[in-house]
Amino acid sequence: MKKKKQAQKIVFKSERDFPLMPMSTGTMLHNKTGAWRNIKPVIDLDNCIQCGICWKFCPDVSIFVEDEWPVVDYDYCKGCGICAEECPTKCIAMVEEEK
Ligand code: SF4
Ligand code: SF4
Repeated sequence: MKKKKQAQKIVFKSERDFPLMPMSTGTMLHNKTGAWRNIKPVIDLDNCIQCGICWKFCPDVSIFVEDEWPVVDYDYCKGCGICAEECPTKCIAMVEEEK
């Protein structure tokens, strides 16, 4: 049987000990990633089964649930299309942004 590799836990005492890397130390609320978007998700609620999968998969936490229905926050949705891909009823359409 193959031996498991010994994992070594790296512990940093403070942020100053971190290796050089990009990181955010403040809130992302001001980084409105919606400005990057050229296509946007539009949810057809008539075919939504309120499963919450789009909410769970959105990498930008741009879908919230209001009165048990999914709502897209277009200030932060960057149009990646993951919600549309994962929706089991395919009721999310990715449509071109109007300029
Ligand atoms: S398109 Fe991407 S960022 Fe926008 S709501 Fe769907 S999963 Fe989230
Ligand atoms: S994944 Fe699709 S069916 Fe499920 S809550 Fe979102 S929009 Fe509705």
